[in-house]
Amino acid sequence: MKTSVIGYPRIGDLRELKFATEKYFRGEITANELENTAKQIRLKNFELQKANGIDFIPSNDFSYYDNVLDTAFLLGAVPARYTQLGLNVLDTYFAAARGYQGEKGDVKALAMKKWYNTNYHYIVAELDDSTQIKLTGTKPLDFYKEAADAGVQTKPTLIGPYTFLKLATYKGKKQAADFADDTAAAYSELVQKLGALGAQWVQFEEPSLVKDMSEEDIGLFVSLYQKILCSKGTAKLLLQTYFGDVRDCCEQLFSLDFDGIGLDFTEGKKSLELVRKNGFPKGKVLFAGVVCAKNIWRNDYQKTAGIIRELKKFADDIVITTSCSLLHVPCTLDNETRLGEEYKKHFAFAKEKLTELSQLGQILDSDNIEQSPFYIQNKALHSEKRAGTNDAVRNKIAALTDKDFVRLPEFSEREKIQKERFALPLFPTTTIGSFPQTSDVKSARKAYRTGELSQDDYESFIREKIASCVSIQQEIGLDVLVHGEYERNDMVEYFGECLDGCLFTEKAWVQSYGTRCVKPPVIWGDISRAKPMTVKWSVYAQSLTDKPMKGMLTGPVTILNWSFPREDISLKESALQIALAIREEVLDLEANGIKIIQVDEAALREKLPLRKADWKEDYLDWAIPAFRFVHSGVKPETQIHTHMCYSEFADIITYIDDMDADVITFEASRSDLTILDVLKQNNFRTQVGPGVYDIHSPRVPSKDEIKEAIGKMTQRIPSQKLWINPDCGLKTRGTEETVASLKNLVNAAREARNENS
Ligand code: GLN
Ligand code: ZN
Repeated sequence: MKTSVIGYPRIGDLRELKFATEKYFRGEITANELENTAKQIRLKNFELQKANGIDFIPSNDFSYYDNVLDTAFLLGAVPARYTQLGLNVLDTYFAAARGYQGEKGDVKALAMKKWYNTNYHYIVAELDDSTQIKLTGTKPLDFYKEAADAGVQTKPTLIGPYTFLKLATYKGKKQAADFADDTAAAYSELVQKLGALGAQWVQFEEPSLVKDMSEEDIGLFVSLYQKILCSKGTAKLLLQTYFGDVRDCCEQLFSLDFDGIGLDFTEGKKSLELVRKNGFPKGKVLFAGVVCAKNIWRNDYQKTAGIIRELKKFADDIVITTSCSLLHVPCTLDNETRLGEEYKKHFAFAKEKLTELSQLGQILDSDNIEQSPFYIQNKALHSEKRAGTNDAVRNKIAALTDKDFVRLPEFSEREKIQKERFALPLFPTTTIGSFPQTSDVKSARKAYRTGELSQDDYESFIREKIASCVSIQQEIGLDVLVHGEYERNDMVEYFGECLDGCLFTEKAWVQSYGTRCVKPPVIWGDISRAKPMTVKWSVYAQSLTDKPMKGMLTGPVTILNWSFPREDISLKESALQIALAIREEVLDLEANGIKIIQVDEAALREKLPLRKADWKEDYLDWAIPAFRFVHSGVKPETQIHTHMCYSEFADIITYIDDMDADVITFEASRSDLTILDVLKQNNFRTQVGPGVYDIHSPRVPSKDEIKEAIGKMTQRIPSQKLWINPDCGLKTRGTEETVASLKNLVNAAREARNENS
């Protein structure tokens, strides 16, 4: 059976592209040198796939920053403010990706958004009434030729026109449909050119087809492709979907004249059902996404063989493929030297997934697949009982009842008790937790990790930092203090390292956006709290002040969403295990005199299912209870805060209130504050701290600016419920600007307080 890959990671095994690009940004290498590094990565990827016998190797999956931005450049859809800078093409491209400030001008970057339900972020194309879509770029052609010259026949991949138009923002009167004709014409021309160069197949990636589609959406999709398909030239066209199933447009998709259709059988809950119901069009190739490209576990050949066996009843020509681009998994296990073989044998990163595809390709056509050595080996691996089961944890989770998810007394009662206990002024001021992680903090941590600094010395260093952080906050006059989170490199990794059941890799980086990569922990076994994780730091910080010191934790949903989750137990079960561990920490903090505890859920929205119909049952029904379980055991007078890094929760607002925190802080400074109206309309009862200034910029906000923000907030939120804080943690900022900003924040709150009382 033939094999296909949708896309391959481009960052390089050791993040070579990241480092080269950053050097280029700093002016340390030339464009030529950067292009050379990029080319080496591409050629290596082609070779690797070829060596594994992959039949459909993608080209044009490479990008210097992001494929959606590439598509905008390909189609001439670049806002004039970037082209007017008069830079060369590569620098214009980077200006749109990251903003430009220099002798040629000063422009902000295009917006960036989360790519569906992944932790990758794409650059949002911006179309206005003057945008003239036409084929202006040659990137897919160049990369096709580059591979062909190296002796590799590839399948150029493109972000499809429907997805491109759905993801764009429209700045003028014209909407997606108004650009459809020109877009279709540009894609037709491109496919013709690719065909003329010798490309046999062209892959159109259309993940937007797995989202909820209106009649109008379906109309747009059909009309785009009717046009493209009637003048596509010699290349065959593969319509590739991923991240879910195509339940809204399956009929139309199957009736259009594609040569191949790619469906996702790992994340697409209904994909198999759809094929059973609609059959599969005769004479077309079914690209079956059976090797999961979002998680790092070895494929279960028995299960995959079952899916293929079923699909064979409906399709005569099947190609097996990855479930989506391999961009979402790390490159290779080759550089993991510390993890033992007993763990590694259960993992497959991008490179190892090529081997899986190749093995599956070899065995899936065989009549007695059960006899194949690959199959036997794989079966043995999957039937092995993995270490890491913790019966105590499992029993506790199994014994949970409804009561464990309800904090008593109810919110309004607690609000009164806490008002009395803390006697905070109107508009209390606080921060989100972290203070600047200056170079001394980073180098001390590094020295500690490499053993150059003893544990004692490292801990006294952290204590000094905490002490100075507390005194700075007192000087500034904040009402609720934090310890500064100096002991943490990252809000998930820190807890992962303290918990039993998580594993850490050395080089397993995954691209998050542009040159930024993350290294998610692996949830390996049952999670439990081996020891207190933050108590000593919070207790020490509290000992330095009479003001309340917030304990600072990361919530279970965020820890889970920013890790590679297990697949042998449900997400719900994993979330509850993590919640249990965090709950123990919460209770420990409380028992040690910490009166306010913040549990961050920065990534709560991240894994919200792509279709609204799945939100509740597949996600919110366990995610919200997991958070509630974390704090349901605290005393009425203990105040629970939570924090979210965004304000797009209008559509799940009742669920957010239902988390039953006492206070929630979120990002509001960069949004248009419509969320405040939504809070009002919904009688949001949780107290709120809608960030009054943007911490993502080094700018110091003036007192008046902050006062104005407070003014807008008091028009929509009862004064008694309003907190004043920045919109996220301060760890990426410098000390000087932080102190100046917080002083302005406190003064603004004081003035507002005087005027309101
Ligand atoms: N408490 C964390 C901090 O301040 C929250 C970070 C986040 O929400 N991303 O850094
Ligand atoms: Zn945040």
